[in-house]
Amino acid sequence: MPHHWPVRRWNGWIDEGALPPHVSHEAARLLEAEIGPGRPNPDARLDDVVAALPSSAFADDAAGRLSLDPADRIRHARGQSLPDWIALRSGRLGRAPDAVARPADGSEVRALFGLARDRGTSLIPYGGGTSVVGGVSPDPDDDRPTITVAMDALGGLRGLDERSGLATFGAGTLGPDIEAALAPHGLTLGHFPQSWEGSTLGGWVAARSAGQQSTGFGRIEALFAGGSLEAPAGTLELPSHPASAAGPDLRQLILGSEGRFGILTEATVRVVARPRVEAIPSWFLPDWPRAIEAARDIARAGLPLSMVRCSTPLETATLLALAGDGRSLRALRAYLRFRRIGPEPCLLIAAATGGEKLVELAVREVGSIVRRHGGTGVGGSLGRQWLRNRFRTPDLRDALWDLGYAVDTLETAVDWRRLPDLATAVGRALRHGLEGEDERVHAFSHLSHVYPSGSSLYATYVFRVAADPDETLDRWRRLKTAASEAIVEHGGTISHQHGVGRDHRPWLAAEKGELGLAVLADVARRLDPDGLLNPGVLLGDDPGLRANRR
Ligand SMILES: Cc1cc2nc3c(=O)[nH]c(=O)nc-3n(C[C@H](O)[C@H](O)[C@H](O)COP(=O)(O)OP(=O)(O)OC[C@H]3O[C@@H](n4cnc5c(N)ncnc54)[C@H](O)[C@@H]3O)c2cc1C
Repeated sequence: MPHHWPVRRWNGWIDEGALPPHVSHEAARLLEAEIGPGRPNPDARLDDVVAALPSSAFADDAAGRLSLDPADRIRHARGQSLPDWIALRSGRLGRAPDAVARPADGSEVRALFGLARDRGTSLIPYGGGTSVVGGVSPDPDDDRPTITVAMDALGGLRGLDERSGLATFGAGTLGPDIEAALAPHGLTLGHFPQSWEGSTLGGWVAARSAGQQSTGFGRIEALFAGGSLEAPAGTLELPSHPASAAGPDLRQLILGSEGRFGILTEATVRVVARPRVEAIPSWFLPDWPRAIEAARDIARAGLPLSMVRCSTPLETATLLALAGDGRSLRALRAYLRFRRIGPEPCLLIAAATGGEKLVELAVREVGSIVRRHGGTGVGGSLGRQWLRNRFRTPDLRDALWDLGYAVDTLETAVDWRRLPDLATAVGRALRHGLEGEDERVHAFSHLSHVYPSGSSLYATYVFRVAADPDETLDRWRRLKTAASEAIVEHGGTISHQHGVGRDHRPWLAAEKGELGLAVLADVARRLDPDGLLNPGVLLGDDPGLRANRR
């Protein structure tokens, strides 16, 4: 039975009615010194946004299948990208769906395709709505009414083959419900994106998600064994073979399809025994170049690690400032000075997960690699703190917004050879991105997932909210464009884990090529000939289809 998790605030990340976390005095001081005092904006009220919402294109409720409730429509109008936040916090919502549907099985999804065709409507698949790339909002350029297809009723464990380690869930199942269903069997999926509490299995597959411990458990591509996709052209069943040489793997086509190729109703995933031991020790490296080298050697050592995170000096300083200025932190700083780790120490956290002996061996090996690069170990307390707070860190977005600061993140992956230059270029693009208007940006990053051939780079940037929400959006657009151009120019992918959505579309051709994009557009046309699904996300709207509709 799925849990009933607290409802997320309609225009934020924290739970409805909850207070944002406290920002330590030290962190507030650091931000003020870096980018100036924040200028909070007044928050929109849900009642006012409801009152201003245009009426639904559906006069009736289409035979009881649709929710037309204005608050329900508003709650499904946007995801969690910064443009989504600006829209929701300011109440300048743009388009909202005309209705929300909650199909309970494949046949109800197929009925929705029929309804959409009959009524000339588009459909937006919506899992947890945690997309940070504009993947769940109605297309401003699409003149059709929109129905958001919420996956809430398509949840729960459907089947478990313990012998094969295969579990089948409804695609709308939330992260905690997956683990709660597997725990009594001593099993885990091990997929923990930072949005785990509020995101769904179908959303992970559709957006090619990476969990925080994907280094050990595998990204969702490795965990997704098969499933069932309802497309307007028919049903695609994807069998869960352990491996297959029977032509190109259609599962790879569905992974990352972002609701354009169909609606995943069910997914079978590879599950494993819950690990007996997990150790998360931390180390400090003297500077960023040596930290990168240590991370690279660790990634190439073939150790049973589930996570390796390595922060730039500025991120390290920010994390320590956020932790406050307690006695233990002062002692840590003194210890680092004593060990001559600095002047710009970089924090490296590694998690080893599995059997006792393997974990012990992995931690020992990481330690000797780190020491070879001039680093030192500081034990397990920072790692344990990270583990405790790992799903709470994003709550800081609410707290900082209330102080007048906008926070966004972006990410990429690139080979080790080009990583140092890419990291410098992204940092520079963000830090100098608002110089034209005399605004500063606090930008820092970490390597979040390491691979033998390269690493992801995850950047966080903070800037001041402007008095006018459109100006804040403009600032974001300038920063996002500058960083994305730097990523593409230095050979990085436009996304390592967040997907393409609407926000990354301009840079997709740089990595797929025009022919590659045309192939994907052909697949979309074959599976969804009337262009019903998620217009404007992942791929541009099909001009041929648009002309036909007029
Ligand atoms: C605070 C925060 C932290 C995050 N951390 C991570 C992280 O660590 N790793 C990571 O990978 N991502 C992360 N994300 C991004 C986001 O959580 C992922 O992209 C996630 O996979 C989205 O899942 P969802 O269920 O919320 O999908 P949604 O946001 O609802 O949808 C995402 C896309 O998939 C489509 N879709 C959803 N369900 C289906 C379905 N059943 N069939 C077909 N299409 C569907 C939607 O149309 C949309 O295009 C984070 C987001 C936030 C807000």
